[in-house]
Amino acid sequence: MTLSAEERYPVAEPRPAPTLADTGPLGEILEATRARHLPNRQGALADYIPELAAVEPDPFGLAIATVDGRLIATADAELPFTIQSVSKAFVYCIALELVGRDAVLERVGVEPSGDAFNAIVFDPHTNRPFNPMVNAGAITATAIIHQATGGHAFELILERLSAAAGRRLELDEAVYRSESDTGHRNRAIAHLLHNVGAIDGDVDAVLDAYFRQCSILVTACDLACMGATLSHIGENPITGRQVFDLTAVRNTLAVMFTCGMYDYSGHWAYDVGIPAKSGVGGGVVGVVNRQLAVGSFSPRLDAKDNSVRGVAAFKDLGEELGLHAFECSNIGSSYVSALLGAPQA
Ligand code: GLN
Repeated sequence: MTLSAEERYPVAEPRPAPTLADTGPLGEILEATRARHLPNRQGALADYIPELAAVEPDPFGLAIATVDGRLIATADAELPFTIQSVSKAFVYCIALELVGRDAVLERVGVEPSGDAFNAIVFDPHTNRPFNPMVNAGAITATAIIHQATGGHAFELILERLSAAAGRRLELDEAVYRSESDTGHRNRAIAHLLHNVGAIDGDVDAVLDAYFRQCSILVTACDLACMGATLSHIGENPITGRQVFDLTAVRNTLAVMFTCGMYDYSGHWAYDVGIPAKSGVGGGVVGVVNRQLAVGSFSPRLDAKDNSVRGVAAFKDLGEELGLHAFECSNIGSSYVSALLGAPQA
């Protein structure tokens, strides 16, 4: 008997609705952060994918999901947008789990590239993509999954991302078509990857899975839940489902820390100091290990292709909540716990 994709990769169980941010002290901080940066209209929409240039530019949503299963959200945190490069972190995690760290490292490195996400450049020492958070490395990770699943990469990716979000995610067909019709640069990268032996098999099928994974619709709440699943070492703290393998999560967070914000990653680590990943759809996810994750959505991008308001909000939240990995004041995890009150039963 042949199983359908739905049967092979069952639908994720729905998660409960978020608590609105005007309840509780952590919510108030989230709401105040949003209010502070809402008037900022700097930056521009990504326009190299025609469909992205047509999105509504003004929404701004923030959400926090905690490892004890709370989800706190502001207005706009349940508006859908395409995940774009935020998918790269989760897809890398799946690739690690499927074939193991050594096989993945043979095909894609873990060094920051210092270049733009779509740079057509490989590590000169290895002739492999620098890391899985830029397009070349991400297409390689998708190729690994394509090979390991016998051509079912997208079904598996959609199922795992849905399980991490705690609800069934869907594809934005129009963005997928737009990206697939205009993705000549990614095609060039994929064919070069094939040429250097980093990917093999059907290049077009791998690219199709990559374009689809970038066009999955998510919300800021979804990103917070997906991040909290990494923060909670692979278990979705809201649905209780084990989604990712523990060791794969550790390796993924390490690469998000050093490479997640493109060629702004060094500055981000310095100022915000948490593993994160952004996408040209305007999403950013930031993970505070064993505590919480923040999801943000605001589509206008800065010169490094990160969300303008997203970066500003993370800087403020990081400062206010003491989220930096090397925070040396007394705030940090105990402060966030105090703000949240007693853990949920
Ligand atoms: N789909 C986009 C691309 O491949 C993703 C880029 C991004 O979010 N930085 O170009």
